Amino acid sequence: MDFVDLDFILVDLRIVYTNRRNNLIVGVLLPLPFNEPFDYKISGDIGVGDIVRVPFGKDIQVGVVWKLGKSAKIDDSKIKPITERINLPPLSIELKRFIEFVASYNMAYLGMVLKMVLSAKGVFADPKMNVLYELSGKTLAEAKLKNSDARWRVIELLKKMPLNRQEIGAGAGVGQSVIKTLIDVGVLSPVLIEQKRQFEKPNADYQKVQLTNEQQVAADDLCAKIGNGFRVTLLNGVTGSGKTEVYFEAVAEAINQGRQVLIMVPEIGLTSQWLGRFEKRFGVKPAKWHSALGNRERTDTWKAVATGEAQVVVGARSALFLPYADLGLIVVDESHDQSFKQEDTVNYQGRDMAIVRAKIEQIPIVLATATPDLETVINAENGKYDELVLKSRYAEATLPEIKIIDIKADKPLKGDWGVSWLAPTLVEQIQHNLDKGEQSMLFLNRRGYAPLMICRDCGYRIQCPNCTAWLTEHRKAKKLVCHHCGFMTETPECCPDCHSESGLTACGPGVERVAEEVKYRFPLARVRVLSSDFTTNFQEIYKVVKEMENREVDILIGTQILAKGHHFPALTLVGIIDADLGLMGSDLRASERTFQLLSQVSGRAGRGEKKGTVYLQTLYPENAVLQALVKGDASTFLNLEKKSRQMLKMPPFGKLASVIVSGTNPDNTQRVAQWLGQSAFNDDKVSTLGPAQAPIFMLRNKYRYRLLLKTARDIPIQDVLRQWIAKVKIPNGVRVEVDIDPYSFY
Ligand code: ADP
Ligand code: ZN
Ligand code: ZN
Repeated sequence: MDFVDLDFILVDLRIVYTNRRNNLIVGVLLPLPFNEPFDYKISGDIGVGDIVRVPFGKDIQVGVVWKLGKSAKIDDSKIKPITERINLPPLSIELKRFIEFVASYNMAYLGMVLKMVLSAKGVFADPKMNVLYELSGKTLAEAKLKNSDARWRVIELLKKMPLNRQEIGAGAGVGQSVIKTLIDVGVLSPVLIEQKRQFEKPNADYQKVQLTNEQQVAADDLCAKIGNGFRVTLLNGVTGSGKTEVYFEAVAEAINQGRQVLIMVPEIGLTSQWLGRFEKRFGVKPAKWHSALGNRERTDTWKAVATGEAQVVVGARSALFLPYADLGLIVVDESHDQSFKQEDTVNYQGRDMAIVRAKIEQIPIVLATATPDLETVINAENGKYDELVLKSRYAEATLPEIKIIDIKADKPLKGDWGVSWLAPTLVEQIQHNLDKGEQSMLFLNRRGYAPLMICRDCGYRIQCPNCTAWLTEHRKAKKLVCHHCGFMTETPECCPDCHSESGLTACGPGVERVAEEVKYRFPLARVRVLSSDFTTNFQEIYKVVKEMENREVDILIGTQILAKGHHFPALTLVGIIDADLGLMGSDLRASERTFQLLSQVSGRAGRGEKKGTVYLQTLYPENAVLQALVKGDASTFLNLEKKSRQMLKMPPFGKLASVIVSGTNPDNTQRVAQWLGQSAFNDDKVSTLGPAQAPIFMLRNKYRYRLLLKTARDIPIQDVLRQWIAKVKIPNGVRVEVDIDPYSFY
């Protein structure tokens, strides 16, 4: 996103907020695909931001009072009353403003953005209650009971605090009948306590770390910003330089000031090491927020964030939509990571929206990364962001040496297992590393066994029935899988077309296949595979990471989940099986993404005392991205990238939006795409490309066309889109989806 979009004014809604009234009509926004609130009557004390239950059609919906006064032109008598006001803190003005901005900027329904805020259904249900017992004040004598030893122990126990029946039984060493008698005669009386998880306060001074000079300077700068308004700071430090330790100091300062902190991470499932470090530093675990949370934890966490009880939240991009009581700092860790971009019912760039939220909340935000993206770098150069640089790795660790293997010259040689994916030089180096007892890691950004199955007898390729895509073989699971729609089928025994029993052949490598070769070549090595497969769960990932830390693994093979933040001190060799894989992409960020990914993967090597070496296998050793990696020269690479984007007026030098037209009926879908193409704006500041069939023309049984809108920086691209799309009549069954600042172009 372009920073100019952030220069909006925070409308002062405070007057509306404090003006609570009786017997009025209010607009209630519902978590449904609408942009407008619906009218309801209120009775009693209700204000904007209040969370309410209202009748809607045949259902009861939870919504938020969005405005005072009537919107629709209907008779007051037709307007239904709200059912009830839910006893939760109202959404803050800032959060309301944030929801409005996210919807308008990303061209999403206001109601669907609200839905992301109200995402913990359990919050609105009646809370689960625990029945505890306390002393009523009635004595045994008054209840005409004898004073037995058992009864005395119960009374002594409950003098300290109320407990439930099981706890009383265990704590006083008495049977349930004793307790029942005491309840029946009224010596013990019940108290209802809400059942919920407690969130302990992190301790800012629990275990302080001695920072290096370079780190201290950065930490001081960040700490001084807490409580002093909005500011974006890029914390740009090479892998292993201690960025986490530095921003932990800012977290500590926010804790000391009694403010809440949000730390956004790319993939929370992969943060076991990070969570361990947090606990070591602050004495407690932070609250976690991600899509895989259980209902109960989701509910408890949402409430604890709303009341301020949960002080530090670490979460995926969705944590940005929580109702913080008093947010004081946002940290975006690995801020370059593409997984912050959501492509779903609401398309948004989580990192950019985090900056928006910080601006609205008037708080500082830290972007921590070793490989900042071009947009961020340019904002830092222009002085819109502050930049703090950490040049060296912590302690003795040095950056790894990067070597290129030209696989045209250093050709992988076939063996008993079949085709080879490892160049002789790499094989030799892995052997050498094994002999030294050091760990190696092989990286290939391709899940499964082989990306394609082809019949050698008739040439048939096995395609997904729902998408224009080949099925990937997952040999361990004996399945063929579509990586676009999730379609899955048993691997067939013979060719579905010519029925040849020997024709089907795996084509190309996936991690499973590389692992097969590695196991053949190094039968004594302890080999593990880590991949974000449908067969892998968080528990398995934790286990492999632990084994790796404990040096119970010699060779680790995996996909891009290896790139993210792991710290394995004994890892000294990284082999990148196919450095060209990402460079083939046609989209505008392909080189940048490859540079970042390969830097991050390389950054896993040599983080301990021993030096690390990285081997890049490629067909194109002269490629500029790879050369920049070898030289460790991010700035030359970024300058090249900057020039080419400047020339093409691509972001951040221009604005970009994708329009995707999809539908089950091929004619209707194509017609809408053509209409859009014909009614497109084109002048010296606005240009439209397309329509064209999307690279994945059929996805999940829907036909897809794409158009690309490019405008100059000073054009409000959303307004152009709104006017444009309004010109076209869109029939039922065809969807027109907008993706502002698109990252993927499939
Ligand atoms: P980055 O996030 O920049 O890749 P980390 O914060 O993960 O770097 O630091 C790399 C390793 O160095 C970690 O194990 C970390 O605990 C350690 N480290 C960094 N700075 C210090 C310090 N000042 N004192 C002790 N250990 C440190
Ligand atoms: Zn598919
Ligand atoms: Zn065949």
